[in-house]
Amino acid sequence: MIDADLTLIPAELGPLIADSRLGDTSGGVFRHRYAATGKITADIPLAGAIEIDRAVRAAHVATNRWAAVSPPDRRDMMMRFADMLDAEADSLARLSVIDNGMVIGAASFGPTFAADAFRYCAGWADKIGGDVISVWGAPAFDFTIDEPYGVVAVIIPWNAPVYAIGMVLAPILAAGNCVVVKPPEIAPFAVLKLGEMFLRAGFPAGVVNIVPGGAEAGSALVSHPDVDKVHFTGSGETGKRVLAAAAQSLTPVQLELGGKSAALIFEDADIDDFAPFSISGLVNCSGQGCINAGRLLVHSSRYREVVDLVAEAAKGLRVGDPFDVNTAVGPVATSMSAERICGVIDRAKSDGAKLVAGGRRMGGELANGWFVEPSVFADVDPRSDLARNEVFGPVIAVMPFDSEEEAVALANDTEFGLAGYVFTQDVRRAHRVGRALQAGNIWINGFAGIPNAVPFGGNKASGFGRLGGIHGIREFLRPRNIWMAT
Ligand code: NAD
Repeated sequence: MIDADLTLIPAELGPLIADSRLGDTSGGVFRHRYAATGKITADIPLAGAIEIDRAVRAAHVATNRWAAVSPPDRRDMMMRFADMLDAEADSLARLSVIDNGMVIGAASFGPTFAADAFRYCAGWADKIGGDVISVWGAPAFDFTIDEPYGVVAVIIPWNAPVYAIGMVLAPILAAGNCVVVKPPEIAPFAVLKLGEMFLRAGFPAGVVNIVPGGAEAGSALVSHPDVDKVHFTGSGETGKRVLAAAAQSLTPVQLELGGKSAALIFEDADIDDFAPFSISGLVNCSGQGCINAGRLLVHSSRYREVVDLVAEAAKGLRVGDPFDVNTAVGPVATSMSAERICGVIDRAKSDGAKLVAGGRRMGGELANGWFVEPSVFADVDPRSDLARNEVFGPVIAVMPFDSEEEAVALANDTEFGLAGYVFTQDVRRAHRVGRALQAGNIWINGFAGIPNAVPFGGNKASGFGRLGGIHGIREFLRPRNIWMAT
C-alpha cells in the first residue's frame, strides 16, 4: 500500500472567503485520515456560524462586481478555469484520492468532467438573458429578463467533490450568481485547491467562497437570511432539515438526494451490452455513487447466467491501493461507512439473501484501511432492507422477474427515483420501459456517464430540480417579465 503524498495537500486549509484564507475558525477542527491506510493526513479548521456569515456577506458584496463582468468576459473566465482544470488534472486527481480514497482512474476523470461542464456552461453564459414574448390583446411589447438569484449556498457531497464542482458550480456561475460552497470536512482538499484556481482564473474575489465544515456550518449556511437559493446534495434525512431551515426565510432549494436505482435485464438482453455495466454498482466510487444500480432485476430465463456473471466479475475485481492504476475498488470513505456497510451485509445474510460474492470487511494488508469486499447477493427479498434502502457501498442485490409488468413494478417500488437502466434488444420495449420507470435519468443498453448537456436530477425522494444542460442553468436564473403598451 502506497502512503498518500501529503505534500500535495494545500498548505492552508482554512475557509477561503473572498481572497483571504482564515486560519482560526469557530467550528472546531476535523482530523482527516486517508481512507486506504487510516493514517492522519491533516487537521482541517472547520467553519462555524461566524465564518459562514462572513462568507455569505462576501458573496453578497461580490454580486455587484460579478454583475459588472460582461457575459463574454464571464464566458472567457469560465473557459480559462476549464483550461486550468486540464492543466492541474493530475494534482487534482491525486488530491481526490487523498480526499476520500477513490481510485485514481475515477479520480483522473473528475477534472476532465468538470472542465467539460465549465466549457459547456461557458457557452451559455453569453447567450442567456431573456426572450421576447408575443402577447394578445392590447398592442404591447413583452419581454423577459433572466436574472441570477444572487448568492447561492452550495452543499456538495464527499463521494466525488471535483465532479460536483463542475456539475453544480458551472451552471450557477454561468447564470451570474455568487456562491458559498461547503465541501464536506471528510473530503475538502481538492475543493480548497479549486478555490484558489478560481481566483487565479480571474473570478472577482467573493464570487466563489469555500468554507469546509460539518453539520453546524451547513445548517448556518442554509438558514442564512442573505442566501437567495440553496443547492444541497446529500441524504434525504438531511435534505428534509435543509428544506425546513430554508423555509424560515422562504429560500428556494434544489435537492439532489439518494437513490436505489434498478437495472432491468430482459430475456433478449445482449450480454455484451450488459457485461461491462454489471459491476458498475461495485466499482463506481467503491459503490458510493448516487446513480449506482444497487438492484439488478433479471428475467427468470437469464437469472442464473446473470447471477454467475456478476458474481464472477465481482470476485475478479482488484481491491486495494487506490493510487495503483490497476485497482478497480478502493476503500470506502470513512471507518463509520465501512462499519455501516458491513451491518447492511450482515442484515442481508440474516434476511435470507444468498451471498454469491464478497461479504466481509477486508483484512491482511488492507486491515488498517476501510475496505469492504465487493459483495453480491442473489435471491433478495424485494421487501428486505437490502432491496429497499440505499447502501452507498459496494453491495448489489439481484432479483428475478417473470414479466415486463412485474419488472417495472419492482423497479418503481421504491421511494427513490434517481436513475434506471434497461437492457433489451426490443426497441419498442426499450421506449416503453424507459418511459415507465419513475426516475429522472434512464440509460438503455449501456452507460457512459452523465453528459454535461443533459438534464440530471431525481424524482420522488431523490429530490427535485435539475443540473446539466440548459435546464441546469435555468435552475439558477429567475425570469422577470416586462409588459409595455405600444
Ligand atoms: P449527508 O446528508 O449526511 O450530508 C451531506 C452534507 O450535509 C454534509 O456536508 C453535512 O455536513 C451537511 N449537513 C449535515 N447536517 C446539515 C444540516 N442540518 N443543514 C445543512 N447541511 C447539513 O449525506 P452524505 O452521507 O454526506 O452523502 C451521501 C448521500 O448523498 C447519499 O444519500 C447519496 O445518495 C447522496 N448523493 C446524491 C447525489 C446526487 O447527485 N443525487 C450525489 C452524491 C451523493
